[in-house]
Amino acid sequence: MIQLHDKYFTPYIDAKDIDSAIKKLATDIKKDIGNDIPVFVGVLNGAFRFVADLVKYYDGDCEVQFIKMQSYEGLTSKETVLSQIALTTDLTNRKVVVIEDIVDTGNTLTEIYKLFENEQLRDLKIASLFFKPTAYTKKHIIHYIGFEIPDRFIVGYGLDYNGLGRNLSDIYQLNTTNMTNLVLFGPPGAGKGTQADVLKEKYNLVHISTGDVFRYNIKNETDLGTLAKSYMDKGHLVPDEVTIKMLNAEVEKNPQANGFIFDGFPRTGAQAASLDALLEEKGSQVNAMIALEVDDEILVSRLMERGKTSGRPDDANEDVIRDRISVYYEQTAILKNYYQKQDKFIGVDGVGSVQEITVRLSKAIDSL
Ligand code: AMP
Repeated sequence: MIQLHDKYFTPYIDAKDIDSAIKKLATDIKKDIGNDIPVFVGVLNGAFRFVADLVKYYDGDCEVQFIKMQSYEGLTSKETVLSQIALTTDLTNRKVVVIEDIVDTGNTLTEIYKLFENEQLRDLKIASLFFKPTAYTKKHIIHYIGFEIPDRFIVGYGLDYNGLGRNLSDIYQLNTTNMTNLVLFGPPGAGKGTQADVLKEKYNLVHISTGDVFRYNIKNETDLGTLAKSYMDKGHLVPDEVTIKMLNAEVEKNPQANGFIFDGFPRTGAQAASLDALLEEKGSQVNAMIALEVDDEILVSRLMERGKTSGRPDDANEDVIRDRISVYYEQTAILKNYYQKQDKFIGVDGVGSVQEITVRLSKAIDSL
């Protein structure tokens, strides 16, 4: 086990295996390129070692260039922009092979394709040392892949965690045995959002509220927002397929998290099963479902009160509120069962002051 900053990593792929994979990639690329002279375009920073070893094993003349892409974090979406180092040679009629260290969601790849869109290349191929098929959301073909890996956070051989780890010759994976993943449960108005805000600071967790993500998308008039709105306005659940895909993408944005507070998710059996699968892929699990228990009439009056200031159309109307509460009991009570069976259900009294309830929740979390 090694430590980088605040996190621990365990050995995952050793240098010898990386070396053999790169030899094979060099041979495969050479076969396709034939006698032409390719331009290898490395994507900095992560790919510097991969490029160096790949050209070492490449049996023929080649040129080497680098580009640098940088991600910046939006409020809920991570977009990739091109920065600093751009292409300098004329690539007209050249065979280009882009050399990436890792492809996960594929956002960077989309930008790379845009970058070469107007160049009159003879051929464009992508080689990536690592590929995470379950995280990948795009359709671009990746022509040469060294290793297909599960959705784990890895460092070493060029890849870093906050700047450290690039010099390691082996690949290490984040030790996730200490991750804390909580499902915060309870009917609308139970105070999940308020408590999640306090608990995420206290336990250094990432809070994902599916309701908030939907509302963010509605505000920004995305396709997802338009779709979700038609269900949300009536107090109905957004279809599983849409919700699960969105949740997975939110988790994916935080590969280094110490754990998550899931708020408003899962709400159906299918969502619960998909969450188990997602966390298992990361070598982790749901530690507990903590349910805030509050009487229906208190909920209705809390939500009517919130509706005066929250601007949420689903909070202002008593019928919609009662409908949401009954949807909660009908469709999601099975989840209590689901987690009870795994001995992971903890009920907490949700009536009292914010501080009182935080104390009760903290006791439950500390006991895990
Ligand atoms: P909330 O803010 O959690 O009360 O969610 C508000 C609305 O967003 C719900 O009434 C649903 O329409 C939608 N929504 C939020 N989370 C989910 C989910 N896990 N599955 C389906 N729909 C959801």
